[in-house]
Amino acid sequence: MTDLVVQRKEGLYCPPGDFYIDPWRPVDRAVITHAHGDHSRRGNSHYLAAAPAEGVLRTRLGDIDLQTMAYGDVVDHFGVRLSLHPAGHVLGSAQVRLEHAGRVWVASGDYYVAGSTADAGEDNKTCAPFEPVRCHCFITESTFGLPIYRWQPQAELFADINAWWRANADAGRASLIIGYAFGKAQRILMGVDRSIGPIVVHGAVEPLNRAYRAAGVDVPQTPIATEIKDRSLFRRALVVAPPSAQASTWTRRFGDYSDAFASGWMQLRGARRRRSVDRGFVLSDHADWPGLQRAIAATGAERVIVTHGYEAVMVRWLSDQGLEASAFATEYGQDDDELPGALGEAVAAAERAAEHVAESVSDAEAAAIVVPPEDAPVDDPGA
Ligand SMILES: [Zn+2]
Ligand SMILES: [Zn+2]
Repeated sequence: MTDLVVQRKEGLYCPPGDFYIDPWRPVDRAVITHAHGDHSRRGNSHYLAAAPAEGVLRTRLGDIDLQTMAYGDVVDHFGVRLSLHPAGHVLGSAQVRLEHAGRVWVASGDYYVAGSTADAGEDNKTCAPFEPVRCHCFITESTFGLPIYRWQPQAELFADINAWWRANADAGRASLIIGYAFGKAQRILMGVDRSIGPIVVHGAVEPLNRAYRAAGVDVPQTPIATEIKDRSLFRRALVVAPPSAQASTWTRRFGDYSDAFASGWMQLRGARRRRSVDRGFVLSDHADWPGLQRAIAATGAERVIVTHGYEAVMVRWLSDQGLEASAFATEYGQDDDELPGALGEAVAAAERAAEHVAESVSDAEAAAIVVPPEDAPVDDPGA
């Protein structure tokens, strides 16, 4: 019996169905888990995705040959029953469920669940929450698959962001918050307290906001920064912009401003320091360590295949739980929201230390680790 998903040079391939999931090279039929650039590439002949992904996919890929399905609907393709289920990662993100000859496999794409127990308050409000799907084999991402990654409650996180914004506004300076244009920006826009001051966005964020609003998500209407004539308005404003805008000439219009970076990587102090921002907010669209464990357990899978992230650590941990575990080498992760280029080396260094910790301590000890290793003080003036 062949596996329902195997690794090919073009991407993850379903042999009985003759289609690919998130291929990284052009293929005839591509099932797309979500519209981040590393999972949905140009050049495929046919695309299949969840219905809520249509707007963001077309915003990013233009006029593609796209078929969409409602979550939970089933299509039969060469005897493979295929359905898509919410992944909680970004608008339209889906896990792919495949059923063939009595076997069920689920490919997660990227997904978001936080904490060791389900809590609706921690759901990603910008999209349908992650839905556990029972299966024999689960293909999981592992972007934050180390015990050091534990997200704080979202209410606390947004209270911190609001307090930073309010303090800046009271001091008459703009608050520039940097986050990926697709997914992160909308989380920020929906999570902050809109009464503190005006909110403006970078031009790269607005087309995605439009796609979210068109899909019925309550992303506030915001002017684009370049459209603002009266610059005194920036003194109480929250400005939401992608990483490419940081320290660019575009920021000159704000005069005095404080900047912050929103990413799961901000849990690493080294990453905050190297990013050279005033503040780091730990906000991720990926599962944290307890979330990954909970999501995997909820599938009931006896076999788990780990992709992009900490494959070695996750495979070892899963094997210790008595599961059959292995890894796929994919080309995902380079273009996702989480790792802007300049961060690469700093994160790699901090992670090597973190990985060592994860591999050399017991599960009980690992569970107690909350403070990431630090390679230098956050406010090191020399950095
Ligand atoms: Zn993604
Ligand atoms: Zn990914």
